[in-house]
Amino acid sequence: MTQTDLIIIGAGSGGYRAAEHAAKHGLKVVVFEAGEVGGTCLNVGCIPTKTFARHAEIMLTLREAEVFGLQQLHYDFCFPQVVERKNQVIATLRNGIETLLASPNVTLVRARARFLDAHTVVANEDSYTAPHIIVATGSENKWLSGIEGCLTHEQLLDLPLLPRRLCIIGAGVIGMEFASIFSAFGVEVTVVEFLKECLPALDSDVAKRLRKVLEKRGVAFFMQAAVKRVVGHVVTFEDKKGALHTVEADTVLMAVGRKPRLQPDFAKAGFDYDERTGIKVDDHLQTTVEGVYAIGDVNGRQMLAHAAEMQGLHVVNQIVGVDDHVRFDIMPAAIFTHPEAACVGVSEDQCKQKGQPYECRKAFYRANGKALAMNETEGLLKLFSEPEGGRIIGCHAFGAHSADMVQEVASLMCCDTTVNELRRMVHIHPTLNEVLLSAAQL
Ligand code: NAD
Repeated sequence: MTQTDLIIIGAGSGGYRAAEHAAKHGLKVVVFEAGEVGGTCLNVGCIPTKTFARHAEIMLTLREAEVFGLQQLHYDFCFPQVVERKNQVIATLRNGIETLLASPNVTLVRARARFLDAHTVVANEDSYTAPHIIVATGSENKWLSGIEGCLTHEQLLDLPLLPRRLCIIGAGVIGMEFASIFSAFGVEVTVVEFLKECLPALDSDVAKRLRKVLEKRGVAFFMQAAVKRVVGHVVTFEDKKGALHTVEADTVLMAVGRKPRLQPDFAKAGFDYDERTGIKVDDHLQTTVEGVYAIGDVNGRQMLAHAAEMQGLHVVNQIVGVDDHVRFDIMPAAIFTHPEAACVGVSEDQCKQKGQPYECRKAFYRANGKALAMNETEGLLKLFSEPEGGRIIGCHAFGAHSADMVQEVASLMCCDTTVNELRRMVHIHPTLNEVLLSAAQL
């Protein structure tokens, strides 16, 4: 039996950062990883899709080359090279993580760990025990039951050739990012979504305008449509009136959400969890068993790499007795479509639903000098505050670099800044962030 200070199950964004942080604080750590280090984010999530998104951005810029005075451009698009570059980016970052985990205080065990009891795990027939265990096993794709013949987004990232027609089931974050990327690559994309609007977490006004931009680029959307079956190249869905329709596609992507990745042996650890919401944790990410924590997608709180990372650091800080006061209540997020979208705090829909008093200020990219210079005039920012220019409570936006602007708002929210204060903060001219200042000055 190996005795250590901290056991971490899973070396994704949450697990590997927690291991690095714990090692810096002098803890002896054993990390278990059954796949590649870096987890979903690095291997099949944020990093590969953002690499693809960069290629898509270049393709879209080339399409408007004449606007920039580039006449009669000729080029061939080599999709296998995109996949190859994506693999190189992953390999570089993976190498970096492996170097981080090569610290003398960290032992990386490349195997699946299973709980024997609350403080003991077994892997490769060796047992390990620690007073503190962090479960960071991540999430896996949800699947519509009874529907076969679809690919996962992981498989789409490694296609040998581009399909001519792609049908995407689900207009959530994955569905919209892949719709934007593959349509930029010249694929005919159709999206079938169950709800009335795409991106359910985003302000519906912002989401609708973003969808319209993708529609203008040729993506077809069927909203309030439930997929019934996929047979060969044909996707059948039912509209809100109960009528059946079909879409033909060479490839079908299933993107209807993700669920916490649970293991049968979790029962032996004795903490509470359920299939849908994941492992139950308190405000400090401790499970119902003392000394056992769950971070990242597996606790079902916010399925975001940056959330997992901060949760991991927070748990380690508690173990070593450092007060960090992380603001988990302010969680910015971005969707890397082209143009991108981002949000933090409340949306107008949420304020209305809760009957919460609010003020909404809107500013459009088309009035911003930098946006015009960049030829990136599609975009809207909505800034929400308490009435009379009070405390900022949210910002939802789409448009070039909107994630950077939302990050600025997130920082202001962490300092309880009011709109009246933001109005007095000088912003560099010409920048896209002046869109935010314009909203505040309304
Ligand atoms: P999601 O929950 O964002 O969206 C799933 C969509 O599928 C929803 O809009 C839902 O209404 C729809 N849907 C469900 N059943 C359907 C049906 N029968 N027919 C048609 N549509 C149906 O899930 P996702 O896009 O799969 O993403 C999974 C997770 O990964 C999310 O939590 C997301 O935040 C995270 N993620 C984040 C990023 C990022 O931060 N940029 C990128 C990718 C994924």
